Amino acid sequence: MMGKVIAIDGPSASGKSTVARRVAAVCTGLYVDSGSLYRGVTHAVLTRGIDPEDASEVVRVLREADISFVEDNGAVTFRLDGEDVSDAIRRPEINRSVSAVAAVAAVRERVTQWLRDMRTHGDLVMEGRDIGTVVFPDASHKFYLNASEEERARRRHAEMPADDASVEEVDRSLRRRDKLDSTRKVAPLKTAPDAIVVDTTGLSIEEVVQCIVDHLGERA
Ligand code: C5P
Repeated sequence: MMGKVIAIDGPSASGKSTVARRVAAVCTGLYVDSGSLYRGVTHAVLTRGIDPEDASEVVRVLREADISFVEDNGAVTFRLDGEDVSDAIRRPEINRSVSAVAAVAAVRERVTQWLRDMRTHGDLVMEGRDIGTVVFPDASHKFYLNASEEERARRRHAEMPADDASVEEVDRSLRRRDKLDSTRKVAPLKTAPDAIVVDTTGLSIEEVVQCIVDHLGERA
């Protein structure tokens, strides 16, 4: 039986991951971070010393990397060449290169298929950039989270270890990634016409979760 899907899309640092994880817990669905797969492919590219801008080499790495899926702590996640890379894929080098890798059509096709196959695990709460538009246009519920650029840079900066980068640097890097993600040819970041848009600026995580849960008709 194929599970139901709740899609939560939005730009970087819009609060998607934390919110989606909590919504998954409330709705007893499995949480899926689709961006982690683009990050995983990027990690495979960088560890092999490949230029992330070289699309044909990226496609070669995609063919040879071994990705397998596991259910772990309420989420469907993956192993790359048998390894848990969840910490490694958060490195700043990955932030810099992931949008180039995610713009390669063959990478998107492959990741989209992996994400669709996850439906066999059960009900999913999947967050990303194109879940409601491309991956699951038939999702039972679609949400699009947004927040002002200033708020997003501040949140992302607060998550980083002290003295790693200034708020201005974080802001520049987020703007660059959002620009690449929303202007690419294949599956650019955009709001699905049937998505409920939630501006999370000034809202706490709990308030955003409550708003989504209210729409879903479940109790938080
Ligand atoms: O969500 P996160 O910031 O971890 O995503 C990393 C990158 O993966 C994004 O900047 C984007 O380039 C890509 N991505 C995407 N489509 C998705 C999820 C992520 O293109 N559904």
